[in-house]
Amino acid sequence: MGSLRLACAHTAGTAASRLSRLLGRGRGETVYGRTLLALDPQALTKLSRNRDIVLVSGTNGKTTTTNLLSQVLADGTDEGVSTSVYGANMTAGIAAAIGAIPRHRYVVLECDELYLPEMYRVLKPRVIVLLNLSRDQLHRTGEVRKVANLWHNTFTHDDVTFVIDRDDPFLEYAVSQAGHVVRVSFGGRRHPDAATCPACLALLDWSLGDYQCQCGLGSTLATVRSDKRLSGPARNAVLAVEAARLMGAVVPLEVQEQLTIQAPDRVTEYDVDGVTVSTRLAKNPESWRGAIVATTAPQVVLSVNARGIDGRDTSWLWDIDYSAFAGRTVVCTGERQLDVAYRLSVQGVEVTVAQDFAAAVRSLDASLPIQAIASYTAYQDLAAATMGIRKATGGRS
Ligand SMILES: [Zn+2]
Repeated sequence: MGSLRLACAHTAGTAASRLSRLLGRGRGETVYGRTLLALDPQALTKLSRNRDIVLVSGTNGKTTTTNLLSQVLADGTDEGVSTSVYGANMTAGIAAAIGAIPRHRYVVLECDELYLPEMYRVLKPRVIVLLNLSRDQLHRTGEVRKVANLWHNTFTHDDVTFVIDRDDPFLEYAVSQAGHVVRVSFGGRRHPDAATCPACLALLDWSLGDYQCQCGLGSTLATVRSDKRLSGPARNAVLAVEAARLMGAVVPLEVQEQLTIQAPDRVTEYDVDGVTVSTRLAKNPESWRGAIVATTAPQVVLSVNARGIDGRDTSWLWDIDYSAFAGRTVVCTGERQLDVAYRLSVQGVEVTVAQDFAAAVRSLDASLPIQAIASYTAYQDLAAATMGIRKATGGRS
C-alpha cells in the first residue's frame, strides 16, 4: 500500500511539474516535490530506504560541492548518482532530487543549513559534509552561533559520519557530540565571527594561527591535513573527495590534485556594448572576501540587491574589508547601491553610483579591464537579461 501511494504521488508530481514547465513557471522541481509530499507525507522516508545518501551543507559552496562530489562519486564507483543539480535545497527540492527517476543507489543532496536536522532524521544519510558556517541571510538564519547550536543539539548519535573543515570552530562545536568525524585541516585560519568559543563563550586563543579553548575545543587532532593555502572552492573540493572515499569511491591522488587546482568559482563573462565584464557571484561576507582577492582590475562594478534570497538585512556589508579597492575606480549599482556605496565611502574608498549594471559599465573606460562582483539576485538578473528575460524573480538560497 505504501509503495502504491508513493507511485501515485510520483505520477501526480510528474504531471504537475510538466504543466509548470509548459506554463513557463520554471523547471518544475519545487512543484513536483510539493505535490509528492502533499499526497504522500512519508515519501522522503520511503525514497531514502536502501540508498546511500550524502548531505552537503554549510554557508559557502553547497551547490558547487554537491555537483563536484556527485561527479567524483560516479567516476570513482562507476555507478549512477541521483543529485540535485540546480541547488534546490529545502524539503520540496530535496524530494524532487531523491524522487527523480532513475533512482540510483547513491544520492548526493545539497541541504539548507536550517533544514539539515530534519533531513538528517528523515533521510538517515551515511555521510554529512559540513563546509563552513559564516554570516548569511541574517533575517532568516540569524547569527552563525544560532545554526551551530541547532546542529550541536541535533548531532548527538554515532549513526552518521561527518566530514568537516575543522579550522571552523563553529563546525567543531556542531559535531562535538557526534560519534564519527573526519576532520580536515588546511593549516588553520582565523574565523571573523569566532572571537569567543561557541561551546563555553570564553575568549578563544588564536595566537598560534589556530584556535584553542580552555574547555578543550580545538584540541582534537585533524584526521586529514592539507598544508597548502587553498581557496574556499578548493578546500570544499578536498572535503568532497574525502566524502566520496568514505562512500567507497576510488579517487587517485592526482585526480584530487587536479580538482583542487580547477576548483570552480562562479564567474561569468557579461557583455555590455561589446565590453566584456568578468562577473563573480558573491553572496555573503565570506564569499565577498574571496571575490575581492580575485578582483584585480583597475575598474570595478559592485552590484547588490536585498531580496529575500540575498538577505534583506544588508548589515553584512559592514563585515567586509574593502581597502583593496582604494585608488581604483568603483561603481556601485543594484537595488542597494546606496548601502554599498556608503559602506565603501566610510572606509575611504571613492565610489560613484549608477542606475543599473549596463549604466555602470558604460560610465567606465572601455579600454581598461573591468571586473564585477554581484550578489545573488543581481547575478541572476544579469543571467536572465542575457537570455532576454527582464528580471529573475525565482531562486533558491
Ligand atoms: Zn570553550
